[in-house]
Amino acid sequence: MTERPILIVGGGPAGLAAAQAVGTSGRKAVLVEKAAALGGAPILQGYAKLVPSHEWARDAIGGMVARVQQNANVTVLTDAQVQAFAGEPGRFVATLKDGKRIEAEAAILATGFTHFDSLNKPEWGFGTYPDVVTTVQVEQMISSGKGIRCPSDGRVPDRVAILLCVGSRDRQIGREWCSKVCCTVSANMAMEIRELSPQTNVYIYYMDIRTFGLYEGEFYWKSQEEAKVKYIKARIAEVTSDGKRLVVKGEDTLVKRPITIPFDLVVHAIGMDPNVDNMTLSAVFGVTLNRYGYIDKATPYAQMAQTSRPGVYVAGAATGPETIDDAIAQGQAAALAAMTRAGVGLARAAE
Ligand SMILES: Cc1cc2nc3c(=O)[nH]c(=O)nc-3n(C[C@H](O)[C@H](O)[C@H](O)COP(=O)(O)OP(=O)(O)OC[C@H]3O[C@@H](n4cnc5c(N)ncnc54)[C@H](O)[C@@H]3O)c2cc1C
Ligand code: SF4
Repeated sequence: MTERPILIVGGGPAGLAAAQAVGTSGRKAVLVEKAAALGGAPILQGYAKLVPSHEWARDAIGGMVARVQQNANVTVLTDAQVQAFAGEPGRFVATLKDGKRIEAEAAILATGFTHFDSLNKPEWGFGTYPDVVTTVQVEQMISSGKGIRCPSDGRVPDRVAILLCVGSRDRQIGREWCSKVCCTVSANMAMEIRELSPQTNVYIYYMDIRTFGLYEGEFYWKSQEEAKVKYIKARIAEVTSDGKRLVVKGEDTLVKRPITIPFDLVVHAIGMDPNVDNMTLSAVFGVTLNRYGYIDKATPYAQMAQTSRPGVYVAGAATGPETIDDAIAQGQAAALAAMTRAGVGLARAAE
């Protein structure tokens, strides 16, 4: 019997890793990406240097894209989306929006996340003041080579505030999860700003610092001790303007006193929301979502990549906030599960 390909949906780090693993093993993969290009958030959003490797996203993830494009066993379809998905493990049929049909052995959902929209946090000034921006915008400033500038008039800022946990750990707006990478990304970004513009002072406002694991030394402590980044443990009330500069008002929660500091540029360290497509993906692929809206994993351990539907696997930030290295590892794990259909076997054994 001819083996059908593995269908992979989403061409970010997780989907690229899955496609490369399937292709390198000698099996066929079809990679369906809704955007016009591969690479996921790091490429499509123009990230600068990644943590923890300090490699440019365009080199690190761009390299993954090139390897997948050169893999003769992988068919890449961009500007494409799956509209219907029917059948059973070993014999699925996916129908794309343009009517094209793909027969598949199994499917891997690597559909990632959506960046938190800071307009949902209006009291912190985004959308009102042009010099309130997001970490994604600062990534783009750095990767474009233009340096750090205030969007309003192009000046180099004297003082920058990075506000952590914007759209994460915030029950009032229905987002109680921690987005995992933004503390480390922000500490790294603060060091990059100091390197690009040594006259600029950078302050990080935080509830808690979660530079987890080995990132504590290389990012949290290094940013303070070598780059002289200042950390303020605070509860922020609002970001306003005095007509000349932005003003961050809040309470310093260590000394329990009000704190008001003027800034030239305020950066929201935005979190990782569930992909806005997840309700549609859930309906099309017949997979359940967890209570936060991410795609549910059947179990966290032995059948790591398995969804609620046998033969359909999930990897990366589609399952919740993930780092790139974990998204890649999960993509490879999902490829192995899909090729061996271990999950199906185990699920059947449990019946
Ligand atoms: C500001 C910021 C900076 C970050 N910097 C770092 C860092 O330095 N290091 C690090 O480890 N992590 C970083 N991250 C996290 C990183 O972005 C994620 O770990 C990574 O993008 C997850 O990869 P993924 O493939 O799971 O998802 P994504 O990168 O989101 O890729 C998903 C892909 O699926 C596609 N897609 C979505 N829906 C569909 C659909 N319905 N049909 C077809 N295709 C679809 C998307 O277009 C996209 O190409 C950062 C996050 C943020 C917010
Ligand atoms: S990683 Fe840090 S900034 Fe991001 S949500 Fe968690 S605690 Fe907040």
